[in-house]
Amino acid sequence: MLLLDGKKLAQEIKQEISAEVIRLKQKDMRLPKLSLILVGDRADSLSYVNSKEKNCLALGMECEKHHLPAETTQEALLQLIHQLNADNTVDGILVQLPLPAHLNTSHILEAVDYRKDADGLHHVNLGKMLMGDPYVLPCTPNGILQLLKRYQISMEGKNAVVVGRSVLVGAPTAILLQQQHATVTQCHSHTRNLADICREADIVVTAAGVPALLCPEDLKEGAVLVDVAMNHDPDGLCGDVYSKKTAPALERKLFAATPVPGGVGPMTIAMLMHNVLELYKKH
Ligand code: NAP
Repeated sequence: MLLLDGKKLAQEIKQEISAEVIRLKQKDMRLPKLSLILVGDRADSLSYVNSKEKNCLALGMECEKHHLPAETTQEALLQLIHQLNADNTVDGILVQLPLPAHLNTSHILEAVDYRKDADGLHHVNLGKMLMGDPYVLPCTPNGILQLLKRYQISMEGKNAVVVGRSVLVGAPTAILLQQQHATVTQCHSHTRNLADICREADIVVTAAGVPALLCPEDLKEGAVLVDVAMNHDPDGLCGDVYSKKTAPALERKLFAATPVPGGVGPMTIAMLMHNVLELYKKH
């Protein structure tokens, strides 16, 4: 089985970005800058924001962190976003989710200028993607696409199943696969006979967040599995299909698969870095 090694590929993509940033430095040009906004003190959010900052700085890009108290008002947060929208030294803005419950998440995200939308999840950017004229793409779906493309897995004419229909992962992934000329079936929690549908698929992308949702028997011989989920089982981190227990059977049966961890996860952060550079170039 071909291991779709997201860790290795993300490293390569980050090296390409770093080489571009070095060239900008050599020409004495302004460097790409990401503004990260964190409201509150959730430990997981803090660690995600720190990791994004670390990645940005490691690639030679600039990064500023705005860490606001949990009781920050909607008005104060909007004011900061408007200020960053107007700041010509800022190329990308990322509001770390989830926001505290008193804040209106969709209003906040829509306040970000779509030309500075580092996550690629602004409604304008989702619309542009749907129209086949993207400004920037959402990070995880684009990470999946890049994994398949760079490992030369053709999507044209293939039967692809996407399990999950969230705005973050499932829905945009189905659109991107369709744009690569796959025939896509989108499944969700109301889908009947999920395993039967998956057994017909050449490519299965799972993003449900349910450990052992599917087992190796539910996949076709020679299929490609992209397991996006990040779940926990008694053996540690696992996907919806991929786990320490299922890995040997998957290796015998599939043509290619992403491991969990080390598959889609590292690609998501690499695509965020890619977006910051893209937004800078368009800016
Ligand atoms: P989400 O918003 O909770 O969406 C989950 C989707 O899965 C929903 O569409 C849901 O259907 C569907 N679903 C849930 N149970 C199902 C079942 N039993 N059968 C079929 N479909 C089912 O989650 P998300 O934000 O998309 O994330 C999904 C997973 O990907 C999570 O494990 C998350 O941690 C992981 N993730 C990984 C990365 C990465 O970089 N690797 C990035 C983002 C997310 P309904 O719409 O009907 O509820």
